[in-house]
Amino acid sequence: MATTTTRTVVSRPAAVPAGRVVLDWSGLDGEEPARLGPLAPCQHCGQPALLRHPVTRRPCHKICAEAAINARRSSRTRGGGA
Ligand SMILES: [Zn+2]
Repeated sequence: MATTTTRTVVSRPAAVPAGRVVLDWSGLDGEEPARLGPLAPCQHCGQPALLRHPVTRRPCHKICAEAAINARRSSRTRGGGA
């Protein structure tokens, strides 16, 4: 009988810098998943987006939402001073 090798492929996010937010809009964690809709301007960058924010339901790129959260966080931790 042939030996079978089971390989488990786990989808992992690319290396994420510590403290950086990465959203999970898959709905696999029990939260509301992001949905798709017709192309409409992203609420952050204004470029056409298919994704809808799972909470606000507004057109939004996931990376734009993450960038907005991370920008807010870093301005908070740095005191917002420049
Ligand atoms: Zn965007």
